[in-house]
Amino acid sequence: MTAQLIDGKALALKVREGLKGEAQQIATRRGFAPGIAVVRVGEDPASKVYVTSKKKTAEELGFGSWEHHLDATISQAELLALVAKLNADPQVDGILVQLPLPKHIDSNAVLLAVDPAKDVDGFHPVNAGHLFQGRPGLVACTPAGVMRMLEEIRFNPSGKNAVVIGRSNIVGRPMAALLINASATVTVCHSKSDVAAEVRRAELVVAAVGVKHLVKGEWVKPGAVVIDVGMNRGADGKLAGDVEFEPAKERAAFITPVPGGVGPMTIAMLMSNTVAAARARAK
Ligand code: NAP
Repeated sequence: MTAQLIDGKALALKVREGLKGEAQQIATRRGFAPGIAVVRVGEDPASKVYVTSKKKTAEELGFGSWEHHLDATISQAELLALVAKLNADPQVDGILVQLPLPKHIDSNAVLLAVDPAKDVDGFHPVNAGHLFQGRPGLVACTPAGVMRMLEEIRFNPSGKNAVVIGRSNIVGRPMAALLINASATVTVCHSKSDVAAEVRRAELVVAAVGVKHLVKGEWVKPGAVVIDVGMNRGADGKLAGDVEFEPAKERAAFITPVPGGVGPMTIAMLMSNTVAAARARAK
């Protein structure tokens, strides 16, 4: 069996196209488009790439988009003051503080300061709590994008053995919560787990580790759905996933490529969260 590829780029485009109409309606109703403010601190090169790409996507959709680029030496109090200003700004529906922040800043305190109604990253404990309790709220973008991919291939997680590898607050934990809410039987693996044994019995594997080719192709259960969130830059400069793609492709029914899989979906879901936040605030 050779797996069908899940084309994240094409699906992300479809998601973005689907947002245009509602964004337009919101703009007409209240006089201004959904808007997102992105806060970047310092000169982390990857953060710069991510923020540029988020801003470009927001602009393509006709959203309001503001980048606040602050010097790495900014104090925590100054950063919190900016967040408070954005919380109070009626034009701003979504606030995204790009991580990582410089070491002298308590990232948790900054994320806590974001108004949960504007927390389009879904990282605030209020939103994470709603997700865990199966209630509506703003959901972390990468796992939300994975769920959208499963929907696209008509994979219903209900009753399926799902294995999530990784337990970070931004991917693994919210991913597990979404799958629990979708009635999957969920196992969460981390650095102390027997990953091979768990993957072998999984009908759905979501790998979010950050270790190139950790998941061996031969572990994949024939017919499984394999979602590779990992983005690992090799010595050759190429991006590779957490899953050994070629051999896994020969066993899985569906698989995501890296790049061109989960990555583009994350930004599309950020835009979707911004529209959802604008919709809720416009009421
Ligand atoms: P993270 O915070 O570093 O978490 C990694 C998780 O993997 C941890 O829970 C860790 O376990 C687990 N782990 C590490 N080594 C392991 C091993 N040998 N066996 C089993 N589990 C192991 O990473 P993250 O932020 O969740 O990101 C994970 C990957 O996804 C990275 O490659 C990142 O670049 C990528 N990512 C992609 C997107 C996207 O849009 N495509 C978005 C976010 C992240 P412990 O908890 O025990 O330490």
